[in-house]
Amino acid sequence: MVLAGVPRPQPVKFTLMVSAKDQSTSGKAAAFDRSGGHPALDFVNSLDNRFGGKEQVEGLESYGDLLRFAREMGLLDSAQAAHVLRNVTPEAAARALRAGRVLREALAETLYAVVDEQPPQAAGLQVLERYLRVAERHRELRWRPDAGDRTALAWCWRTNERKAELPVWAIAQSARDLLLSPDMKRLRACEVDTCRWLFLDTSRNHSRRWCKMEVCGNRMKARRYQIRHS
Ligand SMILES: [Zn+2]
Repeated sequence: MVLAGVPRPQPVKFTLMVSAKDQSTSGKAAAFDRSGGHPALDFVNSLDNRFGGKEQVEGLESYGDLLRFAREMGLLDSAQAAHVLRNVTPEAAARALRAGRVLREALAETLYAVVDEQPPQAAGLQVLERYLRVAERHRELRWRPDAGDRTALAWCWRTNERKAELPVWAIAQSARDLLLSPDMKRLRACEVDTCRWLFLDTSRNHSRRWCKMEVCGNRMKARRYQIRHS
C-alpha cells in the first residue's frame, strides 16, 4: 500500500553500479584490485597514482563503485548491497560517496605516515576516530541461533541495512580491525615512487617490495637495467 502524500524514496538506478571508466567490453565493471591484502589497503589504493597530481585515477567514481567495493571485499553480501540499492536516494548516495572518499583520504594520510615512520596528523586521526565511532554505533549485537555456530552471537547491521552509508561503515569497521592489529607491522608501500600502493607484506622473509611483481617489479627492474647499461 502506498500512502498518499508520503514521498517514496527514488531508488538509484542500477547503472550506478558501473562507472563509465571501468566498463570492460562485456559491460561489466572491472573488479577492484586486491593486491593490498586487506580491504582497508585496497580501499586506499582505489585512488590510483595518488601522488601523481593531476594524473590521479579515481576508482570510486560513483556510489555504485563504493557499494561494489564493499561487496567485492566481502564486507557486505550481495543481499545487503541489493537492499541498500533498492532504498537509497540519489542525494543520500552522493552524500555517502563523499563520506567514503573522506574516510579513504583520512585513512591514507594515517597509513602513509605509519609507512614513513612519522606520527600521523592529529586532524586525520580525528576524522578516522569519528568514522569508527559512527560505524560502531550502527552495529547491534544479535543472537543468531540459525547461523550454525554454537556461540551464535554476531555483530549485525540489521536495522541499518537500508542506509546509504552502510558500505562506509563496513569499510570503517574493517579499517579499525587493521589499524589496531599486529598486521600493521607488515604495512608497506610499493617502492616505485609513482605507485606507492599500500600492501601487507606477508612474505616469509618480509621481503616484498612491490604491489605487483608483474607491474611495478618489472618496471623497477627495467629502470635498473637502463641505469646499468647507459
Ligand atoms: Zn606498485
